[in-house]
Amino acid sequence: MQNNTDNGHIERIEQLKREKNAIILAHNYERPEIRAVADVVSGSLGLAEAANETSADIIVVCGVDFMAEMAAVMNPDRKVISPVRNATCPLAQQLSPRKLRDAKRANPNSEVLLYMNAHASAIALADCVCTAANALTVAEAMDHSSPILFGPDRCVSYYISKRTGRELIAVPENGACPVHQKISLEALIAAKAAHPRAKVVAHPECRPEVQDRTDYIGSTGGIVKFCKEADAGEFLVATDSGVSRMLEKESPEKTFYPISDALVCPRMKVPTLAKVEAALVNEKFRVVVPQEIADAARIPIERMLELS
Ligand code: SF4
Repeated sequence: MQNNTDNGHIERIEQLKREKNAIILAHNYERPEIRAVADVVSGSLGLAEAANETSADIIVVCGVDFMAEMAAVMNPDRKVISPVRNATCPLAQQLSPRKLRDAKRANPNSEVLLYMNAHASAIALADCVCTAANALTVAEAMDHSSPILFGPDRCVSYYISKRTGRELIAVPENGACPVHQKISLEALIAAKAAHPRAKVVAHPECRPEVQDRTDYIGSTGGIVKFCKEADAGEFLVATDSGVSRMLEKESPEKTFYPISDALVCPRMKVPTLAKVEAALVNEKFRVVVPQEIADAARIPIERMLELS
């Protein structure tokens, strides 16, 4: 529920957006009040599309560091701002350019497909990137005569190879999102026992043993669509618990149970209305990707956008 302080921030944010020709891009996992002031609310693919199409002078990215880097890569002449300094994603941190170079050397005939949750310095070494929304389409479009080096999430790698039959080599071997790793098979079995009629929907960052017991796996957008269209009234949701709240809004006649209320990506909840307002006033914290890296990283991102 919004209070007077929130309303004051919202008014000033809207005014600053108009005055400075600024837009706010927010990830689906952000706080509801941040999603409410955003011009675009989406998963990584929608944010990349919006960053590619915008003509705003200032782009405020409410998400984690690799999302802001992606916006900076696509907009070298615009100001990209994060309301939080060092909004690191622990998954993206698991793949350094050195690790990727070593893997490329060890697998010289492979193509490199990276999950968007990677730093621009790693993406600059890739042939293409993908998100949860288009991972299968993009993997299918890659050269079928070579194996795919895929990183940094081994669970997304499992999801792709199981559905496409493509050979994927995970780099690093055990990369994973710490938030989705919290969803254990035991927790899922217990939740299914408590709600036996519920369909299970999950994000591909979930563990393989959890993925194997779901009715649907996909991006947040895909989960929303599946739940709207499914002939079921109850769903168990295996991803950030904020998605359950979003699903309740989208399909108010249905019931959604997060597998656990503790399932929250803390990094995505750091931006607040006060921080977004300060970011617009001070035009900080500026996110800049060195030109050489940005020029190289833009190629795999553009390839993904063409394939989507
Ligand atoms: S949910 Fe996982 S992958 Fe997504 S930003 Fe949070 S830590 Fe990173």
